Amino acid sequence: MSLHVQVALSLPEWVHAQVDTGHAYPGDESKVALAIELSRLNIEAGSGGPFGAVVFDAANDRIVSVGVNRVLPQHCSVAHAETMACMLAQQRLQRARMNRDLDDNIVGRYVLATSSQPCCQCYGATVWAGIDRLLIGARSEDVEALTEFDEGPLPADWVGELERRGIEVVRDLHRDAAREVLRRYGQSDARRY
Ligand SMILES: [Zn+2]
Repeated sequence: MSLHVQVALSLPEWVHAQVDTGHAYPGDESKVALAIELSRLNIEAGSGGPFGAVVFDAANDRIVSVGVNRVLPQHCSVAHAETMACMLAQQRLQRARMNRDLDDNIVGRYVLATSSQPCCQCYGATVWAGIDRLLIGARSEDVEALTEFDEGPLPADWVGELERRGIEVVRDLHRDAAREVLRRYGQSDARRY
């Protein structure tokens, strides 16, 4: 068996038709609404689990990148919606921390909107990704009640830990709509994604 030295991750083809990078999404609610719409489209297309995320440029409310869960199609446990969106934004911006350059100068402000509260992996990823705001739809308890996913352990004061690192957290945006996608997924036999 040959040694693998590269990982290639990609979003499903349908995102090209569904995502308009020229459109502005003012306000917190419209940003999370798009993340939830991506989560819904992902399960309808059978292209991954019921999670969507979007990175926005806070200067103009436009999309920098999007992500959907790609774990099972791409055999990759880290390919969650939030990590996909952050990795793709960092590649587009050519910065490991979106909001800072190599000299630690602030070069922009970025918002990560996600259909559900980040799991323990994505929580850790958001600490280093260089985002300024985190907007969340469903809560982790919704994910665990409506699906079989384990969200993993988080610090008891996970919101405070982010805010102490300069990341503002806004929760419960379109929570019911996000829960509806999770419920639909949990009730389907589509849990192979
Ligand atoms: Zn995650």
